[in-house]
Amino acid sequence: MVISGGNRTIPDALPLFPKPPRRGVNGSIVLFGPPGAGKGTQASRMSKLTGKPQVSTGDMLRAAVAADTDLGREAKGYMDAGLLVPDEIIIGLISERLQQPDAESGLLLDGYPRTIIQAKSLDKIESVSAVVSIEVPDDAIVQRIVGRRMDPETGKIYHIEFNPPPAEAANRVVQRKDDNEETVRSRLSAYHEQTAPLANWYGERGVLLRINGNQGIEEVGDSIESALLELSGKDA
Ligand code: ADP
Ligand code: ADP
Repeated sequence: MVISGGNRTIPDALPLFPKPPRRGVNGSIVLFGPPGAGKGTQASRMSKLTGKPQVSTGDMLRAAVAADTDLGREAKGYMDAGLLVPDEIIIGLISERLQQPDAESGLLLDGYPRTIIQAKSLDKIESVSAVVSIEVPDDAIVQRIVGRRMDPETGKIYHIEFNPPPAEAANRVVQRKDDNEETVRSRLSAYHEQTAPLANWYGERGVLLRINGNQGIEEVGDSIESALLELSGKDA
């Protein structure tokens, strides 16, 4: 199975933001929200829009588990149980990633930070220009997660009902091991207890962009795009 390792390639369209990026979106952008909110689904469009490489901590951890590295062995139990991987593991992973040359104009961070400790640690090494919070009520989450499928060849995310895979991919799509009803409940509690407080934390810093995630995939993308374009214009 091909796993992207958290570094999906940026499609060839030109980013809309001029280079070097304007001040309003100069640093990294965080994609924030409960499991299944649509972070991964929106990430490639946002990456195209901003020119920032997408980095998903979930993808990086799954790649480490698949490669059976020390880190992967350590993380696996937490992931299977729907718990957050300890901060020190994940902080090391992101700090290393931020030192790579393509991180110079910021990254699109999908699924990081997820605790206040992670956010404080990120604050010391990287400026966060925007936190895009995709808001979806809990009762819509279970259905999204249980129906999620991934194409191991392209890394694309589908949903059996809301975004079915095309015919040629239909029989190779896979379901993540942690995408079952029981684990979703633990992931949702971890989200409410450890991650949700970050919205206020970033709100107080004036970088939180609240997006209604309870609409169609295109509409969510359009809302994110307008919010980011407005931000880039505001400080230009
Ligand atoms: P996250 O990365 O936040 O965990 P995903 O992007 O993987 O979430 O989306 C979770 C599931 O919900 C996927 O099956 C995806 O196809 C589906 N999905 C994403 N956005 C929407 C939406 N706006 N409406 C309906 N289903 C969606
Ligand atoms: P989702 O957003 O659909 O819950 P991810 O693919 O982002 O899933 O994450 C899968 C799992 O990887 C999480 O349930 C958690 O165990 C671990 N993980 C990912 N990112 C982090 C993080 N920033 N901090 C701690 N654990 C993480």
